[in-house]
Amino acid sequence: MISIPKGTKDVLPADSRKWQYVEETAREVAALYGLKEIRTPVFEHTELFLRGVGDTTDIVTKEMYTFRDKGDRSITLKPEGTACVARAYIENGLSGGAQPVKMYYIIPAFRYERPQAGRLREFHQFGVEVFGAKGADADAEVIALADSLLKRLGLNVKLHINSIGCPACRATYNKALKEYFAPHLGELCADCRTRYEKNPLRLLDCKEEGCRKINLGAPVILDYLCPECRAHFEALKEYLGLAGIDYEIDPRIVRGLDYYTRTVFEFVSDDIGAQGTVCGGGRYDGLIEEIGGAPTPAVGFAAGIERLLLVMEATGAPIPEAKGPKVYLAGLDDGCRKKAFALAQELRAAGISAETDHMGRSVKAQFKYADKLGAEYVAVIGGNELAAGVMNVKRMADSVSETVPFASAAEYFAKK
Ligand SMILES: [Zn+2]
Ligand SMILES: [Zn+2]
Repeated sequence: MISIPKGTKDVLPADSRKWQYVEETAREVAALYGLKEIRTPVFEHTELFLRGVGDTTDIVTKEMYTFRDKGDRSITLKPEGTACVARAYIENGLSGGAQPVKMYYIIPAFRYERPQAGRLREFHQFGVEVFGAKGADADAEVIALADSLLKRLGLNVKLHINSIGCPACRATYNKALKEYFAPHLGELCADCRTRYEKNPLRLLDCKEEGCRKINLGAPVILDYLCPECRAHFEALKEYLGLAGIDYEIDPRIVRGLDYYTRTVFEFVSDDIGAQGTVCGGGRYDGLIEEIGGAPTPAVGFAAGIERLLLVMEATGAPIPEAKGPKVYLAGLDDGCRKKAFALAQELRAAGISAETDHMGRSVKAQFKYADKLGAEYVAVIGGNELAAGVMNVKRMADSVSETVPFASAAEYFAKK
């Protein structure tokens, strides 16, 4: 017996409807906001993620699925979507067309993490990228899109926003952070002592209890924003107001990479404990330049589909059931079954979902099975019916029966 690799999961036929529902809802909402889908490869050159995700991040230092291919290239399974979309935007000349370019994707992504609820080594994301628009109205629209999706999925979430400024104001802030943390260095975890040297902003990200306590007293970046970044943040709040979206300002949300700029946001659910962030994003005006393009403003978010499903299940958010077949054709004997088989094919050709027996069941057992499938109608063909060229159609909801000639079966069900 060969088992599934650790940290991966099968989506079984009984569960795939939930996935389709989330994906369909995401596509519908994306279309409402004028986004088009972009599809990029599952693997990329490792270099893309070193630069586009950041070589000091946990993702890049600890979690990537990286290997040499037979041509001795370093290849990595995508650990996230944004860098891939940015690469495609540059490489395909989308930067030369009408701006902004608004895109979404639904992808598998891969990170070698300790598997836990809602966090797998192969996981799935719905992501949005808007390239080319620098105003806070674009940030607000991206947030509104996420908000619409989460609401449609029946989730009760809170929006937290922050601004992490630009490289200019962040330099001042980093200095203030280092001054604050210097006397506490001995109390910080090993990772944080490295962060202190390399990227002080990420000190605020630490999940260790001891570090978190110290973080509470740290200076807040909003107090260090330059006039342009402050104006952008004020405009974001104004546009969120215009969109009717409530928010809380949370100065502890950070993205510790230089190419992240200004807006950062998270949608948080109280319903799954510590893993509460269901969707996170922000602005990264430095990313496209970082991976070799011209300076281009960019804003987006990603939502983990496993995480969304986890919250939906925890809160009992309604998920529409998959529909059963329109009609189940039950045949009494071999001759009748063959007629049922042929009729099922005729109905499908006419766009009507139809099923028939493959197990040699009795008519009674076929009825039971049809009921289990959720068939709307059961059409029974016995010896007499076969001779007369008709079938006995029963509506399962109320057991009302009608006799329907084979010749008009497609027409009959098309109207139902
Ligand atoms: Zn600034
Ligand atoms: Zn720490």
